This record gives sequence, C-alpha cells and structure tokens, in this order.
Amino acid sequence: MARINEHYLKLKAGYLFPEIARRVKAFQEQNPKARLIRLGIGDVVLPLAPAVVRAMQEACEEMASEEGFHGYGPERGYEFLSSAIAKHDYASRGVEIKTSEIFISDGSKCDSGNIQELFALSSKVAVADPVYPVYVDTNVMAGRTGEILKSGHYEGIVYLSATQANHFKPSPPEEKVDVVYLCSPNNPTGSVLTKEELQTWVHWAKENDAVILYDAAYEAFIQDPNLPHSIYEIEGAKEVAIEFRSFSKTAGFTGTRCAFTVVPEEVLGKTQGGEKVSLNQLWNRRQSTKFNGVSYVIQKAAAACYSALGQEQIQANIKYYMENAGLIREGLASMGLEVFGGEHAPYIWAKTPKGLGSWDFFDELLNKYQVVGTPGAGFGPSGEGYFRLSAFGKKEKVMEAIERIKKG
Ligand SMILES: *Cc1c(COP(=O)(O)O)cnc(C)c1O
Repeated sequence: MARINEHYLKLKAGYLFPEIARRVKAFQEQNPKARLIRLGIGDVVLPLAPAVVRAMQEACEEMASEEGFHGYGPERGYEFLSSAIAKHDYASRGVEIKTSEIFISDGSKCDSGNIQELFALSSKVAVADPVYPVYVDTNVMAGRTGEILKSGHYEGIVYLSATQANHFKPSPPEEKVDVVYLCSPNNPTGSVLTKEELQTWVHWAKENDAVILYDAAYEAFIQDPNLPHSIYEIEGAKEVAIEFRSFSKTAGFTGTRCAFTVVPEEVLGKTQGGEKVSLNQLWNRRQSTKFNGVSYVIQKAAAACYSALGQEQIQANIKYYMENAGLIREGLASMGLEVFGGEHAPYIWAKTPKGLGSWDFFDELLNKYQVVGTPGAGFGPSGEGYFRLSAFGKKEKVMEAIERIKKG
C-alpha cells in the first residue's frame, strides 16, 4: 500500500462547516416543518450582474465560432483582464501594478492555500486567532506544524490573538516570524485595518525580513473612503506583501470562480545560502506548472465587472448586503448584545449573551429561532464566546431572523 501524507491526519476532525451541516440536518430531521434561515456560510445569494451575464453570453458566442474560439489561454490570465485590474483596482488608487505582477486564478481560497508552497518548511508562520481556516490547514498539510494542542492551536504556528481588547486587530509578533497572513476586512470578525495600522505591519515586515500575505477578498465592502483597499497603498508594501483579491464576494462569483493574486517584482525570499530570489518568478513557475488558467468566458465576465454599467450593478448588490449588515448590527445591539464588524465587511461578530459558549449559542439560535449562524470557536480558540452572522442573505430573511430572535 502507498504511504499517505500523515500531516493530513493532524487536521482537526470536525471541520467547522461539516459540523454545522450535521447539526442542522439533525434538527431538520426532527423538525421537518421548521423554516430555517441560514446566515452561516459566507456565500452570496444575489444573481450575477446583468452586465456580467451579457459578457459571458457574448464570450460563449465567440467560442462557438472558428475565429472566436479560444483554447488554452495564458496561465497567468488574459491581458484584457489584468490590465483592467491594474487600471481600476490599483492605478485608480495611486498604485502602480504591472500586468506581469497579476496572476488570474479560479479562487483566492486556492491561491491563499497554495502560496505557502513558495516558502521553506522551516518557515515560521503567524496567523490571527480567530482565522480563516485555509491559512492554517494548508500549512498543516504541508508539514509546517506539529500536532494540534489541547488549546486548539497547532504546535509551531504563531497565533496572534484578536480580541475585544485589541479591537480584533492583533499587533505584529514579538518573536521571529517569516510569513504572516492578514485578512482585512476580516473574516470572521469584520474588523478592518487602517492605513496607520497597515503601515505598522509593513514597517515590521521590512525590519524583520518577513512576507505579508494580505487577503483583501472583502475590500469592496469598505465604506469609509479613508480606509485602504489594497496593502500597496502603503509605502514600501510592494517590497514585502503579496495580495489576494477575488470576484467571489465583490461580484457574486462564488460559483463562477475568478480571483487574482498580486506578486510584485520587488518581493523577495532567500535561499539557505542567502541568495535572493523573486517570489513573482516562483509563483509564475508554480502556476504555469500546476494551473492552466481560468476559462476565457469567465475572464470576459470578470472584465465586465469594470465597465461603468458593471460597476453600477455590482455596487448596488454590495449596498444591498451592507444594508443587511446594518439590520443585523442594529437588531442584535437592540437586544443588548455586543456587536462588532458589519460596517466595512459583510460579517457581524457578536459576543454571545450570558457568557454562553459559541456552540451552545449556535444550538440555541437553531433550536429556538431556526436561525443558522457560525460559532466563533470554529475559527480558533479566541473565537470562543463569539458568534458570526453573515449579511449574505435575502433582506426579507435577514429581517425575519432578527424579528424571531427579538421576540424570543
Ligand atoms: C470567501 C473568501 C475568499 C474568496 O475565496 P474564493 O476562492 O475566491 O471564492 C478569500 N478569503 C476569505 C477570507 C474569504 O472569506
């Protein structure tokens, strides 16, 4: 028999979402008539913008003709999309990014999961706690950690506690770290880093020869014009940061699949011997070996997000979700719960009432009100005592969920 990669066996058995699904299924079997409202998993509900669908249809028509047919495309994506990204996402904010620094992909989940391949197994990795589980689990699978400890932390990873005391925004670690994952606006806590806070991180990365892996999947939800959408708005960030962006939440592409990663030419790593190596070159090599590009039709659809009409339609959807976020925030606050996030992110992070554990509160919401949320503890031990609600729902459902809980 073939030997397996035993690092996989270190992964915590009951992964968050399967466990939620299990509890919901059990409840439904006992209460077949109950009308559940799901504000748990972060998946969008509104249909694709008409301008996006139109572009997709046109691209399909092209593919049906001999002249317009496209086979394999460039692994790092078509120029028409990367130049639109460079212009609308970066140049418009005073940031110069070359198309050769943009890698189009089918998701930020895979990119933020695969990026660790570029770093030595001995690299020290830091993550926030609570955290988007992909960053941790992919490092576990790669063998960069020891076993999971009683605390719920993996041996070998540096955890930066995100708590009410630091407004769910941990400071750079004291100890030596090579790679740090940051997510802003944050999933799950909804916190968002200011320019000053990001400046501190960039400064720290430079001083400590560290690389920042910056997940900005939710940047489109930022409401305050003074908040940064990209880490490259911070001076010097191009030397130390890789940024992940996705059309998933921005434009409802969770089922359509398109994202991109920016690896500036200036970001370097080093060999054991101390020789400097460009991470852009390594990522290019990695992608061209293991990835064959996003389909032409989907890249055309993504490019349509940047047209004037596309922008208008996409912004309307974001506004819709942010109104939901406001309703959830106000609803929970009016019941006396302490709420965080939901102002520049589609997630509301609430403190559980009466000191209830995250999973106990999950069960209470499910059993009493048939509302499904996400227990904070599922994102890491520091999430215990908190609860995440997602603004990705139909407005009527969000309002009904709040009403149900209020009545109780
Ligand atoms: C949803 C999400 C993404 C986007 O993932 P895709 O694979 O592009 O759909 C990335 N990062 C975080 C933190 C997310 O919540």
